[in-house]
Amino acid sequence: MSFTSLSFEFFPPRTEEGRRKLAITRKQLSQYQPEYFSCTYGAGGTTRAGTLQTITDILNDGVAAAPHLACIGASREEMISLLQTYKDMGIHHIVALRGDIPSGVGFGHQGLRYANELVGLIRQEFGDWFHIEIAAYPEFHPQSRSAEDDINHFVRKCQAGADSAITQYFFNADSYFWFVDEVQSRGVNIPIIPGIMPIASFSKLARFSETCGAEIPRWLRLKLQSYADDTASIKALGLDVVTEICDNLLQQGAPGLHFYTLNQAGLVSTICQRLGY
Ligand code: FAD
Repeated sequence: MSFTSLSFEFFPPRTEEGRRKLAITRKQLSQYQPEYFSCTYGAGGTTRAGTLQTITDILNDGVAAAPHLACIGASREEMISLLQTYKDMGIHHIVALRGDIPSGVGFGHQGLRYANELVGLIRQEFGDWFHIEIAAYPEFHPQSRSAEDDINHFVRKCQAGADSAITQYFFNADSYFWFVDEVQSRGVNIPIIPGIMPIASFSKLARFSETCGAEIPRWLRLKLQSYADDTASIKALGLDVVTEICDNLLQQGAPGLHFYTLNQAGLVSTICQRLGY
C-alpha cells in the first residue's frame, strides 16, 4: 500500500509534566515519519502561548510543524501578527479554522467570522507562503443549516485558497467517500485527508461526538457501552474497528490519514503498525 500523507495532531499541554510526556509521545510517533505534527489553538487566543511553545518544541525535534489558527473573536491584525511570527519561524503549513465561540466572545464588528475569511486573509497577506489546511465535515458541521448549505460553505472555503482539508473524525467511511464525490462534482480537487480518532474511552468519545456531530453507529455504541469500565475491551474493539476503517479508506484511495492523538502514542502507534507503516 502506498501512503501519501500521515500526520499527528496534539493539543498544547497545560503543565511542564504534560510537556515532558508530549515530548515522549512525539518521539514515539516520529518513527512513522509523519509529514508533519500539528497543534491545536484555543479560539479566542486561549492557548496562544501554549500552541507557540508546542510548535517550537516540534521544530526543535526536527519535524515539520503545522499550527492551527482559529479566527473567531480575533481581529485581522491579531491573525496577521501571529501568522507573521510563524512565517519568521520558517513555518509553511497552517491549519486555518473558525474555532468555536468561547462564552462571552461575540462575532465582533471588525473580526473574522468564518474560516473562508481567514483563508482569504492568509492568501491576501502572505501569498503562497503557507500551505493552508482547512476542516471538512463528512457528516456535516453541527451548526450548519443543511447538508447543502454546509457543502456550499466548504466549496467557498476551498475557492478562497485552501490547499488541502482534514476531516472531522467519523466511523462510517461511506460518509467520507460521499463527501469527496460531492465536492469533486462541484470542482474541488484538493486532497481531503480523513481525520482519525482512536477509541480509548466510551464516555469521552460519546461526549465529544455529541458536541462535534460525529455519529457513533448504534452497533458500535451499544457494544462499547456494554463493556462499562472494562477499558481493555473498549480499546481492543476500538483498535479493530478504527484500523479496519483506516485500511478501507486507504484501499479505496484516501490520500492519507491525520490522527487525533489526544497527546497519547499507544493506540495510534498500534493502528499505524497494523496498517504497515
Ligand atoms: P467554518 O468553515 O467557518 O464553518 C463553520 C460553520 O459555519 C459551518 O456550519 C458552516 O456551514 C457555516 N459557514 C461557513 N461559512 C459561512 C458563511 N460564510 N456564512 C454562513 N455560514 C457559514 N477548533 C479550535 O478551536 N481549535 C483548533 O485547533 C481546532 N482544530 C480543528 C482541526 C480539525 C481537523 C477540525 C475538523 C476541527 C478543528 N476545530 C478546532 C474545530 C472547529 O474550529 C469547529 O468545528 C468550528 O465550529 C468550525 O470551524 P471551521 O473552520 O470548520 O468553520
